[in-house]
Amino acid sequence: MTYYIRLDDACEKRNIEKWDRIEALFDKYGIKPLIGVIPHCEDTMMDEYETDDNFWNRVHTWTQKGWIMALHGYSHKYTTTEGGLNPVNRLSEFAGVSLDEQKEKIKNGIEIFRMHGIEPQVFFSPAHTFDMNTLEALRSESSIRIISDTVADKPYSKWGFTFIPQQSGQVRKLPFHTVTFCYHPNEMNDVDFETLEKFLSEHKDSFNSFPTDQVQRKYSLWDKMLSFLYFIRRR
Ligand SMILES: [Zn+2]
Repeated sequence: MTYYIRLDDACEKRNIEKWDRIEALFDKYGIKPLIGVIPHCEDTMMDEYETDDNFWNRVHTWTQKGWIMALHGYSHKYTTTEGGLNPVNRLSEFAGVSLDEQKEKIKNGIEIFRMHGIEPQVFFSPAHTFDMNTLEALRSESSIRIISDTVADKPYSKWGFTFIPQQSGQVRKLPFHTVTFCYHPNEMNDVDFETLEKFLSEHKDSFNSFPTDQVQRKYSLWDKMLSFLYFIRRR
């Protein structure tokens, strides 16, 4: 059993107090998560938070701790109602958007990271939704070959990318070999923090640093079965 954690929606506008709280928790248990950074946030959902002028310095602090940075979309604004290759939601910044537009988003997003001296190693899309054009845009505009998302038993290789599956929005036991738990610190309450800490303290040996190596394993029939059951249950 291998567990990973990813945190969504890191950007200048965020609930700093909750982000600091989860960082302290991860330091306590030696957790090295994947962080989804929104390079050019235009999502009005974040307007309720104050702006952190020190944000990119904080990103550097995270990378120095061995945390891995992901390109989490570009603007985080949903412009389509497509589910794409991973139809967890019918909302997307990417799925259903033209290849040229997607290339532009990826290129500009990476440029903002590089302006701040950070090289993103992983991609995951807002609302988990992306399509073949997203992969094509990543292939031509970036060196990113790791995607955090989709449902499978273990990491697998497909279309020239390594997919690290992401199956749950909260810590719990699940019938997968490898699980990524996805948290949105901005929206966490006290109970979420307490539940997470309890699970971390009981299972800390199963948590690994988020991986950045390519795998060779192919998507299997078993992965397909688990994914099928996952989407049936979701409906
Ligand atoms: Zn997000």
